Amino acid sequence: MIKHVVLDMDGVLYRGESPLPGAIDTLKALRQQGVQVAFITNNASLHREELAAKVSRMGFACVPEEVWGSAYTTALYITKHAPEARVLTVGTPSMIRELRDAGLTVVSTHEDATHVVVGLDMGLTYEKLRQAHYAIQHGALFIATNLDAAYPDTLTTTTPGGGAIVAVLRTSTAVEPLLIGKPQTTGLALVAEAWGVAPADMVGVGDRLDTDIAAARAFGCLAVLVLTGIATRADAEAATGHERPDVILPDLTGLPAVLARGV
Ligand SMILES: [Mg+2]
Repeated sequence: MIKHVVLDMDGVLYRGESPLPGAIDTLKALRQQGVQVAFITNNASLHREELAAKVSRMGFACVPEEVWGSAYTTALYITKHAPEARVLTVGTPSMIRELRDAGLTVVSTHEDATHVVVGLDMGLTYEKLRQAHYAIQHGALFIATNLDAAYPDTLTTTTPGGGAIVAVLRTSTAVEPLLIGKPQTTGLALVAEAWGVAPADMVGVGDRLDTDIAAARAFGCLAVLVLTGIATRADAEAATGHERPDVILPDLTGLPAVLARGV
């Protein structure tokens, strides 16, 4: 039986503000079977304490240590590779708190910056973009927490995501950012390292082919698509390469059987 599961959050556990049918009980059952669980989300606007609190309020058992938001993953990545980094940010106060919690120095003007970290920023200003643009032009490493173009606002509309803000700086500087969020495997690799397990011992579950499934397949773990979010069965069946899931489930309730089978 596979004992290590990495789950996406939105479209897998909940949609909007409502838990998906059966998801709370399925997570409970997995934990009772001794399955270790982590949550990887491209959301960079919330601290992992806030992400854990959000799903806990809906009724999911979840602690911050299990949650790998892309702000946290980015903070950990920079800490490992450049602990002395001076980071200029375009992002929320929660993203900045993740960077500071990891021991990084956050600066507010381009002169000092060695790294520029960009995420969704509801308080975006031209001045923030200008400082980030200068820093990148002067050689600071341009890091994108995620490239999500838009994210669900309500069940029927979307709103600009972190990737849209990254696109402004990519256009103005002509520099390609280093991406941390899915479809990159950085989060999965950090979770695997924390657990001390190999990709083959893990399952990655998500609702998007171009991020969740692509990351799981690239990392080498079993890639499970649930049809409770973005991708449809037709999308999945038409997908090629790393975007093609190993398993398609109508919803999360089918996951325990997949773990038991190992496929
Ligand atoms: Mg999702």
